[in-house]
Amino acid sequence: MTTENFRRLTSAVIAASVAKDWAAAVLEWDVTELEEDPTGSGECACGQQELVLLFTITNKRNGAKLYPIGSTCVQKFGRTDLNRQVTLYSDLFRLRAAILNNTQITLTSNHFSRAMIEYLNDEGAFTPDRWDSDGGYAFMLDMFNKHKKDEFTRPQLSKITVLLNRKVIPFVLADKSLG
Ligand SMILES: [Zn+2]
Repeated sequence: MTTENFRRLTSAVIAASVAKDWAAAVLEWDVTELEEDPTGSGECACGQQELVLLFTITNKRNGAKLYPIGSTCVQKFGRTDLNRQVTLYSDLFRLRAAILNNTQITLTSNHFSRAMIEYLNDEGAFTPDRWDSDGGYAFMLDMFNKHKKDEFTRPQLSKITVLLNRKVIPFVLADKSLG
């Protein structure tokens, strides 16, 4: 990133923040959306052109949004938790692309991470049902942690499939945070 890009980034962020210095302003933001522009016509808050993955960041204190912003710029905030949010949204995006591609979705690290399952729970994907008051969240997390697919019993596997098809996949397809 050039000095000029960094200067434009910091002034855009500070202008939209409550705090008026960079070190404090970076603490006010969360990554809240991701969309893709395959034509690369997006221009980052720093002036960088041909942005394909367009993140939105939202200010927790005043509700301001900055869009589009690239992952390189988000990394400049120097916050591990923001970098994790970039990874989370990128992974969710990849999962949705796989669903749209008719790829068979499995509860493995090919398609999921622990952070994704936690996100799905936080966002209400695991609606309570007559089997589980948590909608299968703890079960899915437990099954995901088993990792090796072979360890799943037949009833576990069918419950996973039902939860993926009835809750997780429809939720990801409808998730407005993904463009
Ligand atoms: Zn940028």
